[in-house]
Amino acid sequence: MEKLEKIINLAERRGFVFKSYEIYGGVGGFYDFGPLGVLLKNKIKELWLKDILNMPNIYLIETPIIGPRVLYEASGHIENFYDRLVECKSCHKRFREDHLLKGEYGEIEIKDNKALCPLCKGELTEARNFNLMFKTFVGPVEELASESYLRPETAQGIFVNFKNILNSMRAKLPFGIAQIGKSFRNEITPKNFIFRIREFEQMEIEFFVRPEEDEIWFNFWVEKRFKWYTDILGIKKENLVKHIQSEDELAHYAKKAIDIYYRFPFKEDEIEGIANRTDYDLKRHMEFSKEDLTYFDEKTKTKLIPYVIEPSAGVERILFALLCDAYDEDEVPNEKGKLEKRTVLRFKPAIAPVQVAVFPLLSNRKPLIEKAKEVFGIINNSSIIVIYDETGSIGKRYRRQDEIGTPFCITIDFQTLEDNTVTVRDRDTTKQERISINEILDYLKDKLKI
Ligand SMILES: [Zn+2]
Repeated sequence: MEKLEKIINLAERRGFVFKSYEIYGGVGGFYDFGPLGVLLKNKIKELWLKDILNMPNIYLIETPIIGPRVLYEASGHIENFYDRLVECKSCHKRFREDHLLKGEYGEIEIKDNKALCPLCKGELTEARNFNLMFKTFVGPVEELASESYLRPETAQGIFVNFKNILNSMRAKLPFGIAQIGKSFRNEITPKNFIFRIREFEQMEIEFFVRPEEDEIWFNFWVEKRFKWYTDILGIKKENLVKHIQSEDELAHYAKKAIDIYYRFPFKEDEIEGIANRTDYDLKRHMEFSKEDLTYFDEKTKTKLIPYVIEPSAGVERILFALLCDAYDEDEVPNEKGKLEKRTVLRFKPAIAPVQVAVFPLLSNRKPLIEKAKEVFGIINNSSIIVIYDETGSIGKRYRRQDEIGTPFCITIDFQTLEDNTVTVRDRDTTKQERISINEILDYLKDKLKI
C-alpha cells in the first residue's frame, strides 16, 4: 500500500476522519471529524490562538458564515472568485482548466486543434467561468435583494468590523483582527482526501499596518508563521517550503503572497498563505458602504487607509500535514522479545490528540483495576488528555496507542500495589521508567511541556 493510502486508512479506522454521509453514498468534498480528529483540530486551533494572542495587539472576533451579496460585490468575489471549468462532452467529467494545463491528468492530447478528455478522449468544451461561492437566500423570498453567499474566506467579516474594533478597543496601528471559522468553496474537483474540500475551517488574521511598513510586516508574518510550524507543531523543516506566488497565481486583491507548502505524499502544496492585500478591501468597502473606514494617525495628524497583511491557514490541511509528518513504521520487541512491525504516529507530545493512556496490567484483578482508575482520575483532573484501556494484552494496547500517537502509556502492575509506583512507557524509545504516583503529574507535564 502507498503511504498516502495507509495514512487515509489509519485516519478512518482510528476515528480521525470519516467521509461525510457515507451511508448515503457520500458527498464529494465533505468530511466528518471523529473523536481523535476533533481533539487534533482543537489542539491546532489552541496552539494558533496561543501563539498570536501573545502579541499585545491582536483582537479575536467571530462573524456570520452567511453574508449578503453586496459584501461579496465589494470584496470582488462575485466578479473574480472563479475557476475556469472545462467539461467533457462524452463522459461529462468536469476539470479545472489550470489543472489540465499543469499536467495533473498527464499530457493532454490535441486533435484537430481541440483538446481531448484525459479520461475518455472525448471532446472538451470551451472553458467557462465557474464561481466558487455557494449561493443561498436569506428569508422566504428568492430574489436578488435576499441573495446571499456562504463565505469563501473569514476575512470579509473582519474587514467590515474594522471600524468597530477601532472604536470599541481603541486599537492603534499596527494591530490585527483574527478569526477562526468555517468557510466554503464549491470546488469543481475536490481531491486528495481532506486537502481540497468544500467546507473547511480557516484561521485568519488581518493585520493592519501603515502603508509604508507593509514590507516589514509581511516579512515578519512569513517568518513568524513558518516558525510556528517547525517550533510549535514540530513539523520537520525539510517537509516545508516557502513558495513565492507568481503574478498569475496572485488573488485579485494581492500585491504579493508567499505560501507555506507542505510536502504531501501526492505533491507539495499550500497549508497557509501570507498575502499583502494592500488597502484593496478597506477601500472597496468604503466605496460600496459609503462608510468612512480611514484611520486617524495621531502622530502625523492625518487620515490614512491601512494596508493589510493576511496570514491565512487551513485547519484541515494542517491536520493532514501533521498526520503525514508523524506517520512512521518501525520494528519493536513484543512481550516475548521478538521484533514486531508497528505503525506509529510520532506527534510531538504537546500536539498528540491523546497524550497519556492508563492500563491495569491485567483486566481480571480488581485491585489493579481500582488502582488504574485512581491514576486515570488524577490525570484526568488535569489539562492532560488521557484515556483508560483494559482490553487485550499489554502488547496490543501499546500498539493501539502507538498507532494514534499517544506519547506515554502508564501501566499499573503488582509492584504498584506494594510501592505506589507505575511504569511509564515512552512511545518512541519504547523504554519504561518507574515513577511514583505522587510525582506522576509533574513528570507528565514536564515531558509534555505544558
Ligand atoms: Zn471524457
